[in-house]
Amino acid sequence: MESHIIIIGEHAEGHIAPVTFELIAFAQMLQKETHAGIHLLLAGHHLGDAATRLAETWGIDVTLLEPDKAEMATRTGFAAPDDLIFKNLPIDLLDRLNPIYVCAGHTPNGADAAPALAISLNAACITGIERVASRNNALSFVRSVFNDKITATILPTAKTTVLTMMPGNFKTEPPRHCGSGTVSVVNVSVDKKNYAFHGFKKNSADTSALENADVIVSAGNGIKKQEDLEHIYQLSRLFPKSAVAGSRPVCDKKWLKYSQQVGVTGATVKSKLYIACGISGASQHVAGMRDSRFIVAINTDPHAAIFNSADVCIIEDLTTFIPRLISTYHETF
Ligand SMILES: Cc1cc2nc3c(=O)[nH]c(=O)nc-3n(C[C@H](O)[C@H](O)[C@H](O)COP(=O)(O)OP(=O)(O)OC[C@H]3O[C@@H](n4cnc5c(N)ncnc54)[C@H](O)[C@@H]3O)c2cc1C
Repeated sequence: MESHIIIIGEHAEGHIAPVTFELIAFAQMLQKETHAGIHLLLAGHHLGDAATRLAETWGIDVTLLEPDKAEMATRTGFAAPDDLIFKNLPIDLLDRLNPIYVCAGHTPNGADAAPALAISLNAACITGIERVASRNNALSFVRSVFNDKITATILPTAKTTVLTMMPGNFKTEPPRHCGSGTVSVVNVSVDKKNYAFHGFKKNSADTSALENADVIVSAGNGIKKQEDLEHIYQLSRLFPKSAVAGSRPVCDKKWLKYSQQVGVTGATVKSKLYIACGISGASQHVAGMRDSRFIVAINTDPHAAIFNSADVCIIEDLTTFIPRLISTYHETF
């Protein structure tokens, strides 16, 4: 029986979510070593057109998991991501596909569903994967642990492994022309006993200021007092077309707006220069800024993970270093 790499795709309002394309790139990487087929599952309703486009463009087989007809008639939402189905994936269908890997995004849906899915499939489960390593024809998976200070390389030994892939780590290649895949529809009934989905509320944060800036000066938890944010603003004012951003804890404290947050749950930026001040380099933050052209990090901890992504590493206290840098600049120019 042919074995498969199964992708659990995601969508929003009828559009395929970017994480799905990254999952395809991830699965294609696994396919090179395993030569297994790729099969994508998409859960929700009114997704026929999106499924057909995926099958035609990427040449992969797609199965649409739709709520059964009676239940669909009671639903009013159009193509909303249906995490109820996500949690009720038909195990017999997955078993029939003889999966080596079942791949989901490390998103709220994926991270939520993966462990339970692994138990149902009697599979191993590795979450938050950032890299794939291959040694002696065996694939192992690299993820960060201990606040991203250490990377763990995990070699699964089970027949099937459920994987969640950290968004932002696997680049989507343009599709190769390889013929069209098939689309099939399977009706699933969902167990609504535990909770009901009431819809999503859109984040109104406008991240365009960050997306358009050439230089971003970004503040992290290393800023201990709100007044110290002034160092960040002063540094950003040295550059034309600059913006101030921050890590999530700084936005959670309401010192910066959520529209200024960089990372998996914030903006993805590709500035010419990104200056990370007092930011540890958690993968959730790095995923949003790693594609910046030149990265400078200022941190008191020489082992901070952010230094792995930085072009220039400055081991200094930002409250003394930034004022000195600014005064040197003014003396020089
Ligand atoms: C589902 C999920 C989604 C998330 N999404 C995001 C996201 O989108 N964006 C995001 O940023 N985070 C996100 N996070 C949080 C993330 O995991 C980290 O907790 C967060 O990025 C840490 O922020 P930080 O680096 O500013 O703080 P910390 O990890 O507390 O690091 C502070 C750093 O400052 C340094 N420091 C301390 N004092 C000084 C000083 N005086 N001068 C210089 N350096 C100093 C320290 O050495 C340390 O490295 C998410 C987490 C989860 C679970």
